[in-house]
Amino acid sequence: MQTNRQTSDYGSIIMTYKDLVLKAKSDKKWRQTHKGQRLLNGRKYKTKLKFEVLLHYTRVFDPTAIVPHCNNPFHKHLPNDPFFTDIESLSIDHINDAGNKHRKEVFGNKRYSGHAFYQWLRSHNYPKGFQVLCMNCQWKKSLKYQKSRRKKPTLLG
Ligand SMILES: [Zn+2]
Repeated sequence: MQTNRQTSDYGSIIMTYKDLVLKAKSDKKWRQTHKGQRLLNGRKYKTKLKFEVLLHYTRVFDPTAIVPHCNNPFHKHLPNDPFFTDIESLSIDHINDAGNKHRKEVFGNKRYSGHAFYQWLRSHNYPKGFQVLCMNCQWKKSLKYQKSRRKKPTLLG
């Protein structure tokens, strides 16, 4: 392939418009042929990241833990499975119930969650105020919170 390359004062290659077009085409082809691998790498990275973050917060409450598990102190799961460990059903919980406010402050959107949130926790050196809960316990906690709000005195007393 004949290309018309120039070098800058610092010796790096300056790409011409033609080079850039060819590079974009070649990059696109690479992305298409490696689609499966890229997807797998992304999933592996996200699973590893989630495991790492969840294990950190599990160990805050249980230093002996070797896998992440639900940290709910008041709810025992099944008698033969006291620690719920299915990572797909585990997530990070804001202990003070201010998840929406926090997400809005940090990401500008209260629906922001998932691996971007795990990345944020890791890059901020695992701040305090978070725990690991399974979906059942998240739901129970949310019900408790809603019930406590309903008990507020009304105009009639
Ligand atoms: Zn639980």
